[in-house]
Amino acid sequence: MSTDNDTDGAMDRPGAVKHLYVHLPFCRSRCDYCDFFSLAGRMDRAPAYVEAVLEEAADYGEALDGLETIYLGGGTPTMLDGGLLGKMLRRLTGRASAGAEITAEANPATVDSGMAQALSAAGVNRVSLGVQSFDGRLRRNLGRSGDPAAAGAAAANLRQAGMDNIGLDLIFGIPGQSIQDLQRDLERALALEPEHVSCYELTVKEGSPYQRRWRKELEETGSLGDRFYQQLVEYLEREGFYWYETSNFARPGRECRHNTACWEGKDFIGLGAGAWSTVGLDRWRNSEDLGFREGSRHSERLTLRQKTEERLILGLRQAKGVIYDDVAEIINAGEQRRLQENGFLSAEGGRISLTRRGRLVANESCARLLQEQAKPAPAPYGPPGYGRTDT
Ligand code: SF4
Repeated sequence: MSTDNDTDGAMDRPGAVKHLYVHLPFCRSRCDYCDFFSLAGRMDRAPAYVEAVLEEAADYGEALDGLETIYLGGGTPTMLDGGLLGKMLRRLTGRASAGAEITAEANPATVDSGMAQALSAAGVNRVSLGVQSFDGRLRRNLGRSGDPAAAGAAAANLRQAGMDNIGLDLIFGIPGQSIQDLQRDLERALALEPEHVSCYELTVKEGSPYQRRWRKELEETGSLGDRFYQQLVEYLEREGFYWYETSNFARPGRECRHNTACWEGKDFIGLGAGAWSTVGLDRWRNSEDLGFREGSRHSERLTLRQKTEERLILGLRQAKGVIYDDVAEIINAGEQRRLQENGFLSAEGGRISLTRRGRLVANESCARLLQEQAKPAPAPYGPPGYGRTDT
């Protein structure tokens, strides 16, 4: 990969881009397991930060006109007060097309009725609540503050404000979690009647204090990973959710349009500290700093092969798979035949996709298709497990 740090400007004004991510790195407190760029107790910096985000948006000029999706992630976007959030969103949604999907990640503890009304008034039409677990013991094991009952109150406030598209995000593989614990979390989530559920496996940085503290328990839950995963897929499908991406489930028609665009390899711009952007073969990332406008930007240019590998890896995470002609050049034909013969892969209507059996071992299936050249899927806007709500 050709990488040159500290480059400026080369990609500042791409052609029209339909998808915008905004990183808002403020949190109530730091969760023990978190490896994202977020800060607790720095709300005094929020007004200046929002100004910097809006300046960055202005720099992109007409490239951001006609946006089809805007996604506010973090951090915890709803740590901003409603007035500031509204001001930022009014400026950004002014660039969006009619019917655009406007998502805000939210920590349930921050969504009182005032915040729910502010989100709705500012044009947010999809909220992703970072619950992670309803179980007080497991939340403590995550080092996560907040009352587990807050999710119910947040969902009720959002419904009252007219929000008809609510996602709940859970984590599995938490130290001390059993299969029964996961089942209880799933049931409590569905009792809130969400339109969307994400369920990601806990990822912990190797060598981090969290990993050292919970090493034994993480090994235990890690060894149960396949059973956790199978359990949640079977339960959510049985309850009528569409398993449209490896870790994401939706009521019909309620798939997250923003994340789907990223998984489909569409161009997107990221604003704010640590935000990634990808346009064509160009990829760049702002510095992880509240003063990101002054910081250096990391830029790289992907090779066509790298871009195609990403297309394959991210495409096969989706139920609908990927257009065969888009990836045919990099696929190992022998492995493709073997995967098809063994019921892991199907090829129909010009697309290839993993079968149910293949999806349960998606990483291995992809690695086989890419022979020895498999690389981990990149995180298009930074955090591992992208598409995941961690607020
Ligand atoms: S996990 Fe989410 S809420 Fe917790 S510190 Fe990280 S970004 Fe903030």
